[in-house]
Amino acid sequence: MKKAISVLPLIILLSVAVFAQTRNVTILYTNDFHSAFDPIPAYWLEGSPKLGGAAHLTTYINQIRAREKGVFLFDTGDMFTGQLSFLTNGEALMEMMMTMKYDAMAIGNHEFDYGADNFERQMNRVPFPVLGANIFYKGTKNRYSRPYTIIEKDGVRLGVIGIIGIDARSVALPSGITNLDFEDPIPIVRELVKELKPAVDLIVVLAHQGKTGPMQTDAENRPEVQRDFDEDIRLTTEVEGIDVFVGGHAHRGIEKPYVNPKTGTLIVQTYGYGTRLGYLNLKLDGKKIVSSSGELLKVWSDKFTPDAEIARKLEYYKNLLKPKIGIVQGTLKNRLVRDYNRESSLGNFVADVLREATNADVGMTNAGGLRADLPAGKVTNGDVYDALPFVNSLVVCEMTGKQIKEVLEQGFSLERGMIQVSGLTAKYDLSKPIGQRLVSLEIGGKTADDAKVYRVATNSFIAQGGDLYQTFLATKQTDAGGLLSEVVMKYLQEKKVVESLPKAGRLIPAK
Ligand code: FE
Repeated sequence: MKKAISVLPLIILLSVAVFAQTRNVTILYTNDFHSAFDPIPAYWLEGSPKLGGAAHLTTYINQIRAREKGVFLFDTGDMFTGQLSFLTNGEALMEMMMTMKYDAMAIGNHEFDYGADNFERQMNRVPFPVLGANIFYKGTKNRYSRPYTIIEKDGVRLGVIGIIGIDARSVALPSGITNLDFEDPIPIVRELVKELKPAVDLIVVLAHQGKTGPMQTDAENRPEVQRDFDEDIRLTTEVEGIDVFVGGHAHRGIEKPYVNPKTGTLIVQTYGYGTRLGYLNLKLDGKKIVSSSGELLKVWSDKFTPDAEIARKLEYYKNLLKPKIGIVQGTLKNRLVRDYNRESSLGNFVADVLREATNADVGMTNAGGLRADLPAGKVTNGDVYDALPFVNSLVVCEMTGKQIKEVLEQGFSLERGMIQVSGLTAKYDLSKPIGQRLVSLEIGGKTADDAKVYRVATNSFIAQGGDLYQTFLATKQTDAGGLLSEVVMKYLQEKKVVESLPKAGRLIPAK
């Protein structure tokens, strides 16, 4: 005991000496913002407090900038989706990021929603670097975007590399990326780290990779739908020399930075939607990180005065588009909601509309394509765009009973959420191995015939093999015309009032 007391002043002295010469680096980060411009009611918390909001988040960021030195702000992609994004081809998001003074972003799959050419225009009109080291123009060694950037602040230099993962590529709109190749990021990052390391203090990787996040608003409260971040661990294990790895795409909130046991890389990520601000604080002695701490700061909307400039820009876009997105289409007596891994009222509704519009035997739509619930009461075209924001059109595929079973099995794997259906009844058992989970199938009230050809109405995204629904690629397809959102609007206009919930009991779990 005596001995411990005698060395204490020495330890204090030493640590004061070390900290006196350390430099501060604060990395703020967001991912998968998905056009969450307005605060989100956290209905899973007592009293439904609001979280996030672009203008509130900006105030929080500026408060941290005012009190700390060496503050950097990064995003790892999937800013786009939603009605303001759709109607401005993403411009509203890029304008917001410009005002928030992002230092760099990585490209997410949703940045390709309105085509790679469109995003090229968007990234070239903003002052901050947009990074994608493993994206190339098809068949060439020419990069689509900058691979890295070097940023210096308060005497600290960061080498920042951006990448997109192979899963993220596979969920991008296939027709949006036909002129691009995506290469394995690992060897590319390894090369760039080697090149940058001597010129900078720290290496930061911004990555949009791993498995796609669950599409439901309360995902942060549902541990069973949370994705892993194994791909991030693998990359930071295989590539030495990365100091900080900011993930995205999986919407996997990492509450405290994860330290790679082999390489020491700090891995961080938020739940997305701007409900939390990622915060990572580092103390540097030379180029060495002598201490690190981090957390996901909750953005309680009511605690922050909205940033005036962001609020002004949002008002501008909303007013500009109000005549376009405030038009009532019809009335729903019931709210239609999403559930990523089960049958849902919104999924059933959309699948019914697709089937009815084409007189098909079956309607099918992907759970991942449903991006917002539809409210009860008057439904505007803006509400429909929010629920179905993608530029997907209505397609009829000729499919055998066997092919329909394959699609259902893909849905039951839960890799990309459960397929939402109309015109069929499927029983399934999730305790069985993947590929053997379908227990029984009736189409139009009769046992499905493997050889019979059925007409299946669906959306062009999965008809092109999106969300791993490769089976559709082998089918004869007819374009039935119209965007999915327009087809749903037409249905609402014709019905005027939808009295009842769509009939449930189409996808029936075994137990
Ligand atoms: Fe993504």
